[in-house]
Amino acid sequence: MRTVFTDVRVFDGEQVHPSTTVLVEDGLVAGVGGPAPQGHVDRTVDGTGRTLLPGLVDSHAHTLPEDLTTALRFGVTTVLEMGGPSSAADRAAWAARPDSADVRSAGQPVTAPHGHPTQLFAGLSGPGVPDPAQWPQTSSPDEARILVDRLVAGGSDYVKFILEEGTVMGAPGLPLLPHDAYDAGVRATHEHGRLAMTHAQTAATWDQAVRGGTDALVHLFIDRPHDDRLVDAVAASGAFVTPCLVLARSFMGIPATEPAADPRVSGRLTPAWNAALGRSLSTWDAPFDDALATVAALDTAGVDVLVGTDASVDFPSGGGLAHGASVHHEMALLVEAGFSPVRALRAATAVPARRFGLDDRGRIAAGLRADLLLVDGDPTTTIGDSLSIVGVWRGGQETTGRP
Ligand SMILES: [Zn+2]
Repeated sequence: MRTVFTDVRVFDGEQVHPSTTVLVEDGLVAGVGGPAPQGHVDRTVDGTGRTLLPGLVDSHAHTLPEDLTTALRFGVTTVLEMGGPSSAADRAAWAARPDSADVRSAGQPVTAPHGHPTQLFAGLSGPGVPDPAQWPQTSSPDEARILVDRLVAGGSDYVKFILEEGTVMGAPGLPLLPHDAYDAGVRATHEHGRLAMTHAQTAATWDQAVRGGTDALVHLFIDRPHDDRLVDAVAASGAFVTPCLVLARSFMGIPATEPAADPRVSGRLTPAWNAALGRSLSTWDAPFDDALATVAALDTAGVDVLVGTDASVDFPSGGGLAHGASVHHEMALLVEAGFSPVRALRAATAVPARRFGLDDRGRIAAGLRADLLLVDGDPTTTIGDSLSIVGVWRGGQETTGRP
């Protein structure tokens, strides 16, 4: 199968090429630039007035198989799950379907006994709702190492730790992983050659995570405005940050009203998910501008910032998030924080590919997977154009892009 995109603006994951040709062959990008290819072509896609992007990456979600289908409809071709009950075999089966995004996962996150998120699942049951009793919970360093060994043996692509004392979630006083158990877990993760991800949403828990050697902070601290000391400590540690501004905004009582009212969004979501997008969690009272300023400060200090959403199961009490849709919303919020549109797009393509070692994707270059998103307009100057989806290709196969 040979597909050629002609006269198309290309964002290759790093740079913009004004008008060029992209050839796709056998599921891979075969070439960028140059004249139209000779010989048989199965499909020619006119790119006039359009932009071709690498498939997007959601670097923080929790997924059921149908969520991966929703994500793909929004041009999200890779979902990095930050905790879930699926096995590696489940995920391989899901990702093999042509209407599914590809997926990697931490498996179940490591938390303290009765720690977050066990409180969220009290009294809930149904598909995708984990049984808290099965959750890796510990307060001892020895046990933390054993839990990490077990997770890696069970196919976790990276390991996630939870440091959540509940302040911004309306559940203050949740038990925290002790420092020594957390540190031992991170060390064990590194001994396995895996990345350690940390859920932390307060300045104090960010401090604990950075001291413990985390590779990533997969939320933003929103309990207070940033200060130079903490921002500099994160930058010096080399950790990346997936702020999930869409979630912070929802905590602060701001529903995703505009995205939910956009037909380019609502047309790709079920009514239930679209309604969820238009709600908010409203558990924390703080100015959202502080969150934007924190992200801007991290960026200025040289910290890699990645696009993630924390889209999960549709909790009755949840809101402000939806699979796929929130990736576009998060990019728009990064632009609000001061990123150029090109840098917001990098945060959902080349940057996560580099930080997660996904060397076969995240850019449009010869030899890489043909995971592609074609949109009308130019999101490299107007970020909202990322939602004007014309087509989505996964491994060179076009998907409908429609429910
Ligand atoms: Zn999460």
